[in-house]
This record gives sequence, structure tokens and C-alpha cells, in this order.
Amino acid sequence: MAFQPTTIDPSNPIGSYVGAYLARPTDKEIRVKGGGTVTALLLYLLENKKIDGVVAAKKTKGITGEVVLARTKEEVLRAAGNRWSIVPYTMKLKETLMSADIRRVAFVGLPCQAQFLRQMKMFPLVESDFASKIYVIISLFCMGTFAVESFADYLERNYRVPLDKIENIDIEGDYLVIVYSGNKLKLPIDSIIYHIQHGCILCPDYTGVFADISAGKSSREGYTLLLARNRFADNIIRNAAEKDYIELMEATDEELEAVKEKALDKLNRSVKYIMRIL
Ligand code: SF4
Repeated sequence: MAFQPTTIDPSNPIGSYVGAYLARPTDKEIRVKGGGTVTALLLYLLENKKIDGVVAAKKTKGITGEVVLARTKEEVLRAAGNRWSIVPYTMKLKETLMSADIRRVAFVGLPCQAQFLRQMKMFPLVESDFASKIYVIISLFCMGTFAVESFADYLERNYRVPLDKIENIDIEGDYLVIVYSGNKLKLPIDSIIYHIQHGCILCPDYTGVFADISAGKSSREGYTLLLARNRFADNIIRNAAEKDYIELMEATDEELEAVKEKALDKLNRSVKYIMRIL
């Protein structure tokens, strides 16, 4: 299960991988409930006893969330969906991993969290098996998370959108689409850059190069693009397909190019803002 560190640069902004796929859940219930391929992969791991639970962020109100340990199908389904704010997770993770009845967990998070956990696995600092219980690290693609108070204030003042009424946020082309109380608000992404966390505008990693599996929106409607960073991760994906949890096909060059384009945008944004502070 050795992990090979990878680098990103403008010629390869998504890092190295051994497999690139498009996938979607075979179970329509999962698609309906807003979950997707990652949820199906987690259910494969849980129901086939590869893991005892999943540590992931669950939406609580609007764009805010909390970290939970999901141990059943229902709990995993409840934790599904996009995350637009970063939630503190280390205490919950430590508490979970110290439980005697937990042998292995899957962690689902953002590229920066995947980096932290990978470092814990590669360079353990204390005499504990804290990180060894993390069976697999799954990273969701990430362009940035909001500074919640600043973004909430901006939406309330300019558009009368209360934070707790936000049902979903998605990216469509150059726009951020906010769904709230049955309405849609489209904002140019450039206009909300000042409400992104400061650390995020310096962050170069879109896909999560330190994860075992990276997952995010693909250019094909309804499908998730999966990058298996190592053979272990590739086997998880292929076994989940064999056991009929996901429909799987190889990603085309065109679909990979679309992800690389977004990753390059993020890398260039990071370079631009880093240059300003150097
Ligand atoms: S942009 Fe980077 S630092 Fe910000 S939440 Fe995403 S991965 Fe983490």
C-alpha cells in the first residue's frame, strides 16, 4: 500500500495516477438522495467489511457542517453532498480512531486535509496507531471554501439570501450557482473571490494529490471523475464496480483535459497571489 508522493506543475496540474475513470452509482436511491459515486464506494467498503466507518463532513445548516463518524448506510447517505466550508475534523478523527471497536476507517475530505493525513501516515509523530487506522483517504476536488461569516454577510446584504436557507451550491462554467428556498442565484466566480478563505487562494491543489482516490465533477452529466493514485485505490474502484456498486468506464482524454483545465486555473490563482506576498 506504499504511497508515492507526486508533484504538480503547469504541465500536469492533477498529479500522478494509475487509473482515471468516470463512474456513477448503480443504486438509483443514492443518486436521488444527492449522493454520488463516493457514497457508493463508501458503501462498498462498509458493507464488505473493509472498514468499520467513514469520517466525513455532514451538512448542518446552509453551508456549514460538522464532522461525523458514519457507520451505517443511512448515516453515510446523510453525510453525502458538496462541502463549501471547511470544518475542523482533527478532534473528531482522533476520538474516532482511539475507539477500541474501530479498526479501520475511510476518510473523505478536501485536498489540504488529505495532505495532512498523508503526512501523519508517512511521518508518525507520536507512538500511537492513530494514522494506521485510516484505511483509505478520499479527496474531493476543491476550488476553495468560504469564510462563512464574510460570505453570509455578503449574500444577506446584497441579495437577501439567508445562510440557513441555502440548499446547494454548484459551479456552472464561470458562475457559482446558489440554490435557496426554491430560487437560484448566479454569481460570477470572480465576484466572490474575496469571501474565499485566505489560505485557499494560495492553495495549488485542486484534485488532492495526497489522497488514494480523488473524486469530483466530470464534464459528463451525472458522472464523477475518479483518479486512483495507487494500485490499492485502483483495486477498490474496480472491486466496487465488480460488486455492482458503481458503473465504471475509462475517462477519455477530453474528460481529463477538462479537469486539468480547472486544476491549472487553481494553480495559476495560487501563483498569482503567492507572487503578491513574496
Ligand atoms: S482550497 Fe485548498 S486549502 Fe482551501 S479548502 Fe480547498 S484544499 Fe483546503
